[in-house]
Amino acid sequence: MLTGAEYMASLDDGRATYFEGERVHDLPSHPQMGPSVRRAAEGYDWLASQAVGGDSPLTTVPSSPQELRDMVDVVHHAGMMAHVTYTSIMTLATAAGRIKDAAPQYIEQIQAFIKDAQSRDIRITQCITDAKGDRSRPPLKQDDPDSYVHVVDRQADGVVIRGAKLHITGASIGHELLTIPTKAMKAGEEDYAIAVMVPVNAPGVKIVNTTYAPRHADTRDFPVSASNACPEGFVIFEDVFVPNERIFLNGEVSQAAVFAHSLGLWERLGGLSGMADGADTMVGLAQLIAEANGLGGEAHIKEKISEMIIHATVIRACLEAAIAHSEVGPFGASFPSELYTNAGKYTGAANYHLMVRHLHDIGGGAILTAPSVSDFENPETGALVRKYMGTRSDVDGEYRTRLFHAIRDMTADAYGGWQAVTNIQSGGGLYAQRIVTRRHYDLDAAKQRALAVAGLLG
Ligand SMILES: Cc1cc2nc3c(=O)[nH]c(=O)nc-3n(C[C@H](O)[C@H](O)[C@H](O)COP(=O)(O)OP(=O)(O)OC[C@H]3O[C@@H](n4cnc5c(N)ncnc54)[C@H](O)[C@@H]3O)c2cc1C
Repeated sequence: MLTGAEYMASLDDGRATYFEGERVHDLPSHPQMGPSVRRAAEGYDWLASQAVGGDSPLTTVPSSPQELRDMVDVVHHAGMMAHVTYTSIMTLATAAGRIKDAAPQYIEQIQAFIKDAQSRDIRITQCITDAKGDRSRPPLKQDDPDSYVHVVDRQADGVVIRGAKLHITGASIGHELLTIPTKAMKAGEEDYAIAVMVPVNAPGVKIVNTTYAPRHADTRDFPVSASNACPEGFVIFEDVFVPNERIFLNGEVSQAAVFAHSLGLWERLGGLSGMADGADTMVGLAQLIAEANGLGGEAHIKEKISEMIIHATVIRACLEAAIAHSEVGPFGASFPSELYTNAGKYTGAANYHLMVRHLHDIGGGAILTAPSVSDFENPETGALVRKYMGTRSDVDGEYRTRLFHAIRDMTADAYGGWQAVTNIQSGGGLYAQRIVTRRHYDLDAAKQRALAVAGLLG
């Protein structure tokens, strides 16, 4: 297993990664991206402390609901880079089971890569979302053929790919890019039905980053985002050579969507688990700030918090159901229920903004205007801000201020904005979750039930 320090050193491999117009040569010490690198390094060290027989817990392939539940907790605790790595590996394991009859020639190399990735203890990020050009047109009808990643040259020992994958979480601070089609492909689109694994430092790969990491010197006012930021990257493939052993699909259009669908499942399970914790945290913040404001017993506040509690409980129930109804694939790996995962992710995302509204409504304007921690330390202002941020003798002004900071950081600042959009878009938009939920719901059984109620069954 890699230590956190070894992981940080491994990023110095000549990768071409950029932030706000400049190439980044030293990721760990970069002011905006460095904290994310250090968080990923902490994840490595924490996982090492959980190792079983010298192996990272990320090598565990769950084979029962209980093992799946344990892994959801471990991966959540280990942070975003562990999460995207684990979901990448589980995507490959799930996809291998699903393509084994139609494209058996790739199974051996997929399994070989999984083994190699686990023994090198690397981090893998997920490159699915193409630039996509005009959304109403398929890849071959785009003005720019590079709107979707595709093969531009076939050689005896591999292929050359061109295109870009956008919004890729953690791309610059991982080691490998799991690059797969974003959607189903049709006959004639063989060059777009390409799934490969590309090292981040491969010649021709360039990554342009953005981040919602706080830009303030004193991160005490950002209790959530200071330790949770992860850069998103535009991953550009400028004629990148991929050797045969790193190709997992090459032209089999009927299988093009299998990888993205497999990943969507794991990605949404991760999203659901994050949402379940996030919804409980929002309930806690709403209750604490209501109590600190002296309004814990007020009827309209209790009603809003009750709605937040119901929301949090329904999300967690879907997470539990997704795990309890997990199925075992052909290679023994347990994967969560598509139905409950997607219905839960949809419910969490679709109602998130209403829960934020309740929290903001309950909290008050100091969500945005509460003074900084350093104002409490300034002898000229400290006692005054403590006095006016306090509400009664048992509610300290700094305590109440810190609650406001957590609410602002989580829901109303750069990270809050990221959350608002991410809840809707990550793992595919609401539309994608509606389609998958519908596909896995037993509509015939529901129709039979309705016919019986209407007295129309023969
Ligand atoms: C913070 C963040 C992190 C992300 N991380 C990753 C990542 O790690 N890896 C990754 O691959 N992706 C990632 N994504 C991308 C995410 O999966 C996409 O944003 C999402 O799938 C939507 O794609 P899009 O952004 O291109 O929007 P669009 O596809 O343009 O969608 C916008 C709207 O148009 C609708 N629409 C699009 N096409 C059609 C059509 N043909 N017909 C009808 N309606 C249509 C959609 O349903 C949606 O309502 C991330 C996104 C965010 C915001």
